[in-house]
Amino acid sequence: MSKPLIVITGASSGFGAEIAKLFNAAGYPELLLGRRTEKIAALPLNFDQVMIESVDVTDYAQFQTAIQKAEAQYGPTDLLVNNAGVMLLGNVQTQSPSEWQQMLDTNVMGVLNGTQIVLSAMVAREHGTIINMSSLAGKKTFVNHAAYVASKFGVHGLSETIREEVSSKNVRISMVAPGAAETELLTHVTDQHALTDYSAWKETMGGITLDPVHVAETVKFIYDMPQEVNIREIDIAATRQD
Ligand code: NDP
Repeated sequence: MSKPLIVITGASSGFGAEIAKLFNAAGYPELLLGRRTEKIAALPLNFDQVMIESVDVTDYAQFQTAIQKAEAQYGPTDLLVNNAGVMLLGNVQTQSPSEWQQMLDTNVMGVLNGTQIVLSAMVAREHGTIINMSSLAGKKTFVNHAAYVASKFGVHGLSETIREEVSSKNVRISMVAPGAAETELLTHVTDQHALTDYSAWKETMGGITLDPVHVAETVKFIYDMPQEVNIREIDIAATRQD
């Protein structure tokens, strides 16, 4: 039997690219989303069953159109990985409110948008899984992370709330909460003091951060459980991270 459709946001780099590779190797049709589609097209994938669409997750209509197009070809979405996110470190006394807005729009509104677009059909089918990429910063605080922490605490709160709303319909809502990993995430930070603080903190764990491959394997582990089993959350970090 053919495998169901997997939708991954933020597939152009970091965790999303690794998640895309893992499900591609396992033979799932995929809709891979990001604004930089050329980066997705350059991933080492078998493109027989891959649809790539340029989507900004803060644009509901664009997001919905892409999912409708993929579902017309591959059938209903069985897994949505709400992975796209941005982390702009900065001290709240000096950081531009536009950076707070970008984090809240992408990390919170983007997750809500994706969730609403697929959820009703999952509830109607009594089958489906949404995995939201949160962070350890969704559970504990870190200096220079005020708006990011607010966005990821938001992801934790909304994920658990929606899980309670749809659990009786056999739909799984889950979260992965990773610790530090060196993807492209830090490259967007504009506050040099915050980057210096990050580098000093990284030394406290021997300079070793999480390999994104292990985050991808965690997402697949959650999905591979029987539909009757919902791993609500997995926290994963480099062993030396405090
Ligand atoms: P990357 O910067 O490597 O990847 C982020 C991805 O999100 C990119 O593919 C980017 O695609 C996409 N993205 C960002 N903004 C938008 C947007 N508005 N619309 C659509 N796509 C967008 O970082 P990571 O892989 O590390 O981050 C993935 C997730 O993991 C994020 O939610 C992040 O908060 C979370 N996380 C990361 C940790 C880390 O230490 N790396 C730790 C804990 C959680 P494009 O630019 O092409 O649109």
